Amino acid sequence: MNNIKVFSPASVSNVCCGFDVLGFSIEGIGDDIFIQKSNTKGIKIRRVTGYEIPIDEKKNTACVSAKALLDYLNINQGFDIEINKNIKPGSGIGSSAASAVGAVYGINKILGSPLEKEQLLKFAMQGEFISSKTAPADNVASALYGGLILVNNRENYKVIKLPVPEDLLAVVHHPLIEIKTSKSRSVLPKTIDINLASQQLASMGGFIHSLHTENFDLMRLILKDYLVEQYRADQVPLFHEIKKIAVARNVICCSISGSGPSIFSLVNGYEKANELKLICDKTFSKSNIKFNSYITGLNSGGVRII
Ligand code: ADP
Repeated sequence: MNNIKVFSPASVSNVCCGFDVLGFSIEGIGDDIFIQKSNTKGIKIRRVTGYEIPIDEKKNTACVSAKALLDYLNINQGFDIEINKNIKPGSGIGSSAASAVGAVYGINKILGSPLEKEQLLKFAMQGEFISSKTAPADNVASALYGGLILVNNRENYKVIKLPVPEDLLAVVHHPLIEIKTSKSRSVLPKTIDINLASQQLASMGGFIHSLHTENFDLMRLILKDYLVEQYRADQVPLFHEIKKIAVARNVICCSISGSGPSIFSLVNGYEKANELKLICDKTFSKSNIKFNSYITGLNSGGVRII
């Protein structure tokens, strides 16, 4: 195989109680990446369409991840990469992670799949560290595995794919401004109150149980972020307004994706999701902030060949 085209999805991360550890892929929104073998050494970005990203091979997450993979495999082959960038960088929905995952997945396929999917994650993370030194693995794991995932950032990036009730949907609003993960992390406190930590743990346990039992009432009652949202809320345009609308409509939860500016709500059922999307679209339109909005299941696929 000499070339491949892959789709690598955007993803919601920091899902409410799951700071740095819970994420899910977004249906049909992401990077289209074309990779082909080249006769020259190294990994080069040959073309970028859509949103602007660095093309320097030391600064692009796709190149850095691909290089880490090739170095590990001790392979000298060069590759050219073209990216159709559909997600604005600094989105909070894993723009940098989508490229990193697409590059390692595509190159591994071209090479005849010497590594399993779970072995690719740590190479994609080398790219994520270029976008933010403190990047957690929830976006990368979501793009790689698809669906709703729980990832352990310390123990060798163990990923657990969680069961998702079919009716569970997310409404995502992405204001088209850039918030860098690195900057947004600096507003977080270095220590946390033990009582809040305890509540967050109960929320996580309850959420996992509600997924297994498909219990939306429990999910609505228990799913909450006690630790992070409060510090980032003011940085995210219209977050307070959107959250107020979502809470009034009795959604399961509404919070900030990644470091923002994207906002997501979880709802059960398409009708509720669509109503919420339309009303939040109106709020954004009135404010003159440019935005994209999506409805996605929480069980959509991860990176794939197209
Ligand atoms: P996001 O949540 O959108 O990934 P981050 O702040 O984590 O936002 O990463 C965005 C940063 O990564 C920007 O500075 C961007 O220039 C840089 N970057 C490097 N390569 C890429 C890429 N292939 N796609 C998106 N962003 C990239």
